Amino acid sequence: FAPWEDPAARPLVSFQGVSKRFGDHQAVRGLSLDIYEREFFALLGPSGCGKTTLMRMLAGFEAPDEGQILLEGRDIARLPPHARPVHMMFQSYALFPHLSVAQNIAFGLKQQRLPKAEIAARVEEMLALVRLEGLQRRKPHELSGGQRQRVALARAIAPRPRILLLDEPLAALDRRLREETQFELMNLQHELGVTFMIVTHDQEEAMVVADRLAVMREGEVVQVGRPAQVYEAPADRYVAGFLGDVNLFEGRMEAQGAEGLRFASAEVPGGLLAAEGPQLAPGASAWLAVRPEKMGLHQEPPPEGANRMAGEVHDIGYLGDWTTYVVELSSGRRVKVARANASRQVERPVSWGDKVWLSFAPDSAVVLVR
Ligand code: ATP
Repeated sequence: FAPWEDPAARPLVSFQGVSKRFGDHQAVRGLSLDIYEREFFALLGPSGCGKTTLMRMLAGFEAPDEGQILLEGRDIARLPPHARPVHMMFQSYALFPHLSVAQNIAFGLKQQRLPKAEIAARVEEMLALVRLEGLQRRKPHELSGGQRQRVALARAIAPRPRILLLDEPLAALDRRLREETQFELMNLQHELGVTFMIVTHDQEEAMVVADRLAVMREGEVVQVGRPAQVYEAPADRYVAGFLGDVNLFEGRMEAQGAEGLRFASAEVPGGLLAAEGPQLAPGASAWLAVRPEKMGLHQEPPPEGANRMAGEVHDIGYLGDWTTYVVELSSGRRVKVARANASRQVERPVSWGDKVWLSFAPDSAVVLVR
């Protein structure tokens, strides 16, 4: 059991009904969230949804207007930032330009008034950990962006916080370095056994690094779970669309048989779509959500009764490993399809304007009611 999957485990940090208002803007609204020891937790959401504010309250730079933040069950409201076992690494890194790499890393340790020899040993250890050996005398302006990022990381973890808060830590890096650094962060977190909480608005990044993630909207948490859980079973249309691409087909709930099996159905050109859904009254609005990679693309019509639809190829995007297609139905509705090129699902090459069929297995659709 990982602590976050153990129902008996006590959270390391617990936000309980936390609210924060700036003037007449409610940045965080009665938010509750638990984060566990050794967890890599990602806060995901669009710009302005309150991610940074939540972190700043945990770090002690802002005070909640309502609610409590508990650390191992203890309210930390009265603890000033430096007395909290929490460190925050800022997006801008905020390195001291006049200090060397080693002095930057030693900064928090000096504040903790550790003995000189211990500081020197810890700095050595950190330099090795983030692979910056030999660069200790350089100044920040003599480093690459990736190296600066690692100095900031070393400085943040040197005082051995219980929780490291990372606000968009990789935003300044180019794509390649960013992907590399994601894996480095995960390794580092694993080695240190420290809880990491990362803020990002990049859904792929959150899914790669996080043990669990929270999707936020307008100051509230909409859903929390493992990346695959949230991706496969989104709570609503907002989450489904925020975490990857999704096709939503609007329909309604239906009932069948004496036991009242509930399913959702939606009419589309060429067929009728159906998938099993929750126990809701027949007639209620429902959406069938189908990920592009769960959508089959055919040149011959699938059997009637399958979840099928007819359309015309509107766009093709070749990505090497994947090809994406946009298929337009006769209603004008566009459907996204993604095929792994290794799967060779399509018999003949498909081109723009081709008449094609789409289908999906009933258990590939998630029925959403919000
Ligand atoms: P981003 O991804 O852009 O960093 P975010 O989700 O981290 O966004 P926050 O920085 O938490 O969002 O801000 C939430 C809301 O609160 C925003 O509308 C922001 O303008 C507002 N806000 C944040 N800090 C302050 C402040 N000190 N004074 C006034 N408004 C603020």
